[in-house]
This record gives sequence, C-alpha cells and structure tokens, in this order.
Amino acid sequence: MKKHTITALLLTVVVAAVCVYSGNLFLSLRADDVIIPSKDLTEVRMLSDYLPKLKGTRGDTAIYIFKGEEEGGKALVLGGTHPNEPSSYTSAVILVENAKVTVGTLYVIPQAARSAFTHNDSQEASPLYVHFENSKGEVRKFRYGSRAVNPIDQWPDPDVYEHASSGQLLSGSETRNLNRAYPGREDGNLTEQVAFAITEMIKKENIGLTFDLHEASPEYPVINATVAHEKSMDFAAFGLFELDMYGIDMALEPSPVNLHGLTHRELGDYTDTYPLLMETANASQGRLRGATNEKLALDGKDKFYVSAGELGMLYVPYDENGHPIEERVGRHLQGVLSYTAAYNDFSGTPIVIENVPMYEEMIAAKVGDYLN
Ligand SMILES: [Zn+2]
Repeated sequence: MKKHTITALLLTVVVAAVCVYSGNLFLSLRADDVIIPSKDLTEVRMLSDYLPKLKGTRGDTAIYIFKGEEEGGKALVLGGTHPNEPSSYTSAVILVENAKVTVGTLYVIPQAARSAFTHNDSQEASPLYVHFENSKGEVRKFRYGSRAVNPIDQWPDPDVYEHASSGQLLSGSETRNLNRAYPGREDGNLTEQVAFAITEMIKKENIGLTFDLHEASPEYPVINATVAHEKSMDFAAFGLFELDMYGIDMALEPSPVNLHGLTHRELGDYTDTYPLLMETANASQGRLRGATNEKLALDGKDKFYVSAGELGMLYVPYDENGHPIEERVGRHLQGVLSYTAAYNDFSGTPIVIENVPMYEEMIAAKVGDYLN
C-alpha cells in the first residue's frame, strides 16, 4: 500500500472516531435528568395536558403538583426557562424534592424550556453537566443547557423575530427564547406553543402567583433583583422587607410596559396571575469570565470578575468568594417563600409551603444536602 493511502486511511479512522464520540456526547444530552420528588408530591401532569399537540415533542415537560389538605391559593414556579442558568432549575428541583404543601396548591415546572436542555450554546465552552453529591454519597447530575430551544426542534430562525401579539422586533435567534414568546401561540413555533401551554395552564388552573427563576451575568444591570408586573408591586414590596430581614439585598424593578414576550409582562397582562421574575448572579454566562467550566458555574469564583468589580463595572459585589450556587439557590428559595407569604396576606388565598430550605439554611449547607 502506498504511503499516502495509509495516511488517508488513518485520518479517516481518526475522523470517524471523533464523529462517533462527539455525536454520542451530543445525543446523550437528550436523556432527561432524573428528579426524585418529595413524598408529599400529589400529582405529576405534563404540559401537553394543556396543549395536546406538544405530546411527543421536546416542548412537553413535567409539572409537579403539591396540593395541601386545606383549600387555598395557587402558585407556580418556573425553573429552566433558560437552562444555562443553573440556580434556576436547581432551585425548582429542590422544591420538587423537598416541598410539603399544607394549604393551597403549588405547581413546579423545573424544566420549562425542556428542548433547550438538549444542547448548549456553540462557542461558549459551557460545561455539559453540573454534579451534586447527596447525603447518601450518591452523585446527582443535571444538564447545563442553552438559553434557547434546540434548533433541531425549531428551524430555521428568521432574520428578524416578530413577537406575535405586540409586533415587537428582535434578532432572529430570539425566536427560540421562551422568555420572549409569551403569551404564546397555539399555532406558532415550538417555543410559542410552550409559552401558550404555560399561559393556558395558568388560566385553566386559576394560578394566582407565578415565579420565573433566572440568572444573569454580573455585568447585567438587572441582577440580584426581582422584576414585577405593576399589579404585583404592592405585595412584592412587603416581600422585599422580609428578604431584607433575612440578609438578602434585593432590588425591586418594575416590568417595562413596552418590553414584550417576557413572563413578568405578558402573564400579568394576559392572565389573572401576579408574576414575579427573580435574577441571581451567574459568572458562567457572563462575557468577562475566564475559564468556563462546571466549577465556575457552581462556585462563581473568577479573578476577572473580581477585577471588573474593582473597576466598578459590575452590578453586584464581587470578591474572591464568588457567588456560589448555594447562595444563588438560597436567594431564589427564600424569594419564593417570602413573596408567597406577602401574597398570602394580600390575596387572602394562602399557599403554605413547608420543608423548603430558607436562605440561612441553604448557605450553611450544600445543594446536595437537599437532593434525594
Ligand atoms: Zn434567564
């Protein structure tokens, strides 16, 4: 055999091996994360119960329902709207794995944009997974996904995304951003259908209070903040006092009336629910970050962010302690508890959630301590 033939054969084998390895890695992200609900879970439904055409698609996702023995109000927590924001879905999973509801009903969707968990953003060097060790010494892993729905499930993007109900124009890739698709469309693309089904669920179940959990990069102005629809402002202000008492510095921002497609705007306008969106600081999605890996996603320690903080370029305090996932999850969970308490006084239709770690408990522990 001639030398160049041998070289060509060798290269073919190497390329085939790389393709098989990376192809398997890509496909492995389609396997759903394992969630082990608390013994007090009442029921699991699917989002397709509210829009049957989602059945069998990666737009369909599980809804975990905790119904108290006593009648009361209804609250919904959305995690994983953006799967590259790990404190969001981790907080929702901790709710599902621990909560006990004694009064009213709690709905939790830990992976609202389920398709967006099946890939991650190209050229961002994102980790594939985050891992936590539970108290039994077992390792639980969850995918670190993308901000947007997988193009395999929705393709192609238009050059310009026109938000259906407002006519707002955004860049084409925002077509796959669930938090630009509300109130959604029954006959729209997959992202719009998911948004529509969530809106339908809120209407049909008469859900009075809705949380949407997020993270943002430390240089983004809306951070360590709650964004509230104007009708949610009154009770949110009381929730803010309680958060302050627990040592949580939280800003309360009004939802801009002319920014469309977001939960804190459209769910407030199109349904009777009172929406709140919370943001924590996630260096692993920021633009100033150094090495991007699972460690950064979990401990938030990054020397470039420390320098940026010293230069006054950030909207959160930043030192060598970073912003660990326990702090970020603790903020979200305490936010859910404190705003719900404020909503209970305001609405007279209470939801009482027990057995969920408070901020103080979360920052003194590890996320894995609250996973089954
Ligand atoms: Zn987000």
